Amino acid sequence: MVSTTATPARVDVAVIGGSFAGMSAALQLARACRSVTIIDQGRPRNRTAERAHGCLGWDGCAPDALLATARRQLDAYEGVHWLSDEAIAAEAMTGGGFRVRCDSGAQVAARRLILAHGVVDQLPDLPGLAQRWGKTVLHCPYCHGYEICGGPLGLLVGPDEDAVAHAKALSQWGTITVFHRNDRDARALDALAEQLKDVGAQLQRSALVGVTGEACAELADGRSVALRALFLHPTTTLSAPMAQQLGCETEAAGCISTDSAKQTTVEGVFACGDAARFAGNIALAIGEGALAGVAAHRSLLGLLD
Ligand SMILES: Cc1cc2nc3c(=O)[nH]c(=O)nc-3n(C[C@H](O)[C@H](O)[C@H](O)COP(=O)(O)OP(=O)(O)OC[C@H]3O[C@@H](n4cnc5c(N)ncnc54)[C@H](O)[C@@H]3O)c2cc1C
Repeated sequence: MVSTTATPARVDVAVIGGSFAGMSAALQLARACRSVTIIDQGRPRNRTAERAHGCLGWDGCAPDALLATARRQLDAYEGVHWLSDEAIAAEAMTGGGFRVRCDSGAQVAARRLILAHGVVDQLPDLPGLAQRWGKTVLHCPYCHGYEICGGPLGLLVGPDEDAVAHAKALSQWGTITVFHRNDRDARALDALAEQLKDVGAQLQRSALVGVTGEACAELADGRSVALRALFLHPTTTLSAPMAQQLGCETEAAGCISTDSAKQTTVEGVFACGDAARFAGNIALAIGEGALAGVAAHRSLLGLLD
């Protein structure tokens, strides 16, 4: 979808990540007649999902249709430039501003920098999960629960997760069976089975070893359990190293710390979207992007406290 346009050597703002958050930030800056270069690899987090839900006005649309519309509208602004590239390094320049280096060798110098590069989800290493991710292997019931409501749902929990709280939340959308990967001992499983009864969920004692078919849970003892979907919580990490390279502080969960204007702990560097909030969704990413774009503009004017 993204093409590269001629990019000036120095711009007011460089945005790393041109998806929901990054384009929203760039839109505010473009409308303030500022020059913006968006560097983007074109791999939004929800790219495996056919439909996106819960975003007002866009509920049920294809994610790439939403992004293509946003891109088309942004392209109408003179000050917006695109680099279809991977940003690999960022540094503060002597005398102010930041330099971003890209995989192709391209460099962008900017007075302000917005990190909107999102996150990467690492799924448990089990056969069948990756190819069903965003289809019948899911993480967010607010995004996909309504479409599969009322059926048997699975919840795969790790050893340190609060399985009872997760099962209780998910029980809004269906009948919950909790699965594990042989990472809790027999006593812990006994206790968990009892606790789950209180929230109307049941524990599957045999470990999950894979998923087949639509969403069929394959168990270590050879049995299969047909589900409408399997929910899990992937390990989530920042998808780019710039925050670390620049010395931006991060939260305990790993997302980039920001203040209420979306400025990081490094002056002139802003962060928005999933990179700054691991429990992300499209509407939040768009909203935070708008905040970051306006704040970066006010910072250029010397108006940001
Ligand atoms: C399977 C799945 C389904 C989802 N469904 C929904 C849904 O239905 N509704 C909803 O509201 N939310 C949904 N979400 C959440 C939603 O996808 C995210 O909240 C949203 O994409 C965050 O937007 P973002 O702009 O912060 O990051 P992203 O959309 O992930 O975009 C980040 C962009 O930055 C680029 N990038 C990363 N690193 C670099 C780099 N080094 N250089 C250049 N570019 C880079 C990426 O390629 C990407 O284009 C879903 C998530 C998943 C995993």
